[in-house]
Amino acid sequence: MKRLALVTLFVFTQILLATAVSQLKHVEPPFWWVGMQNNSLQLLIHGEDVGYSTPQLDYDGVALKKTIKVENPNYLFLNLEIAPDAKAGNFEIDFKKNGQNIYSYTYELRAREAGSAERHGFSNSDIIYLLMPDRFANGNPENDSQPGMLEKANRSKPEGRHGGDLQGIINHLDYFNDLGVTSLWLNPFLENNQAAYTYHGYAISDYYRVDPRMGSNEKFKTLVDKAHSKGLKVIQDMIFNHCGSGHWWMDDLPMESWVHQFPEYTSSNYRASTAVDPHASEYDLRKMKDGWFDKNMPDLNQENDLLATYLIQNSIWWIEYAGIDGIRMDTQPYPDENFMANWAERVMNEYPDFSIVGEAWIEYPSMVAYYQGGKNNFNGYDSHLSHVFDFPGQYAVSSAFNEENGWNTGVAKIYDVLARDFLYPRPHDLVVFADNHDLSRLYSVYHNNSDKMKMALTYVLTTRGVPSLLYGTEILMEGYEHDGHGKMRKDFPGGWESDERNAFTQSGRTEKENDMFDHIKRLAEYRTANKVMQTGKLTQFIPKNGTYVYFRHNDQNAVMVVFNNTDEQKLLETARFDEIMAGYDTGVNILMKGEKLNNLDQIELKPRHAKVLELH
Ligand code: CA
Repeated sequence: MKRLALVTLFVFTQILLATAVSQLKHVEPPFWWVGMQNNSLQLLIHGEDVGYSTPQLDYDGVALKKTIKVENPNYLFLNLEIAPDAKAGNFEIDFKKNGQNIYSYTYELRAREAGSAERHGFSNSDIIYLLMPDRFANGNPENDSQPGMLEKANRSKPEGRHGGDLQGIINHLDYFNDLGVTSLWLNPFLENNQAAYTYHGYAISDYYRVDPRMGSNEKFKTLVDKAHSKGLKVIQDMIFNHCGSGHWWMDDLPMESWVHQFPEYTSSNYRASTAVDPHASEYDLRKMKDGWFDKNMPDLNQENDLLATYLIQNSIWWIEYAGIDGIRMDTQPYPDENFMANWAERVMNEYPDFSIVGEAWIEYPSMVAYYQGGKNNFNGYDSHLSHVFDFPGQYAVSSAFNEENGWNTGVAKIYDVLARDFLYPRPHDLVVFADNHDLSRLYSVYHNNSDKMKMALTYVLTTRGVPSLLYGTEILMEGYEHDGHGKMRKDFPGGWESDERNAFTQSGRTEKENDMFDHIKRLAEYRTANKVMQTGKLTQFIPKNGTYVYFRHNDQNAVMVVFNNTDEQKLLETARFDEIMAGYDTGVNILMKGEKLNNLDQIELKPRHAKVLELH
């Protein structure tokens, strides 16, 4: 009995000793890699009173260079240096106070996957398909609501969570191949633990965690791997301007300056042009940059070096962990612009062929061009972004085919947008689109006129740049912005088991929908198969009598794109296009498979139609 009591006492004290070392609340990034281009790593450590402790570690090739204490004693920031020859493995970080470990964390350094640094981002050989994960397909109805997550699924509410998830996307990878797109841009899917309006994902409450209602970090990595196996790239949507008010750090900020604080709620003025306006007042500029995007979206202060490093490492962590091919950066002009340049430069140094597209939602090419990396700007600013969205082109293409053709209306709008391409260092690296998740749907913009809509999509898929399509465009989804975002971002029919029809299949689509689907598929496949459509020079001619012509051409090939933006049948005289057309006798309209034109001197044009003629 006495021996048993001793053993029991021994076990009991061991348990006590073990539990004396508490759990840290957060260590971020949760793990890292050896062999990165940049050998520094800064860890955010969050745990009660951890700031009163002294961290120690002992691992070959890893040096703790600096320990940074901040206003809040519940944080420490550790600057580590990882030697180029450090080996992958685990090591303990002990946090000692009065000679005792108050915390201990096993940190993991992983080996990089082969070819990780050489990944290729998206380019003008790709066609992007934007989808909102909550609204695309529900691959796992079990995860729609989660015990720890505030908002539960409610499909009857337009602004509610509908249950779509990463598994739903995995289940439909063949659909993207069928449509002919090559890159998936997913609206954000990281944790958004807010009370309401969380389906869109733009109020992140944990930068290192996929929302459990969407799946898991592992599920996202699986999605990327499976997409790659089908020739599809994946673009992750990131937001550095703001986080969600439900972010875990909002209850225990490392320091006052982590977010921009005001005596009372102060919103941004959303006037992005203040960022480039040489006459802008400091008052307007500060408000644009530092004001909150929304009551539920606190404005992050990227001028704080610790937060800046946190965000930069976070994006690199997702690239390396999940193997993504590109980033779409939200609200590009809103965060501190020097930080944004440092971030993009650091990412591009780590992955020289990676792609980042920034959202500078401004109507004017002069202002959008400011944000494309390599631009020789008036103030020396270089964003280091590979791509920017062609918002000026979007304004033009979403109205041109609704308007009378005048000096600067109708198709002249598109002509004028292209004429301003001299402002961009690389017009071929513009992401071109007619609508996106924030805008009224193209079919509604064109008042349910699919002929006009087809002309707009013909432009998007044949012009210079990287075309980007919004999910549901191919099945004529409708929605006006003024009716609310939730109503524009409808569920894809067939994504939910209870849906009445499955528009992922040809038989589940109406005749009209299949017609639009086929229109996109034809143009997408032609573009992907023909280099001239991706990298060929674009030569345009001044619109005349409501018709508009441009060519994509190189030394070997020429493709003529013709729009008739009128309600009349036209006979187009082609003599003025001789500089491109001389030497070509016939043409094949790739929009009407097999339609062959044996005489190119005059081309018959149907009202409100485009032709895409491969010249022979
Ligand atoms: Ca689900």
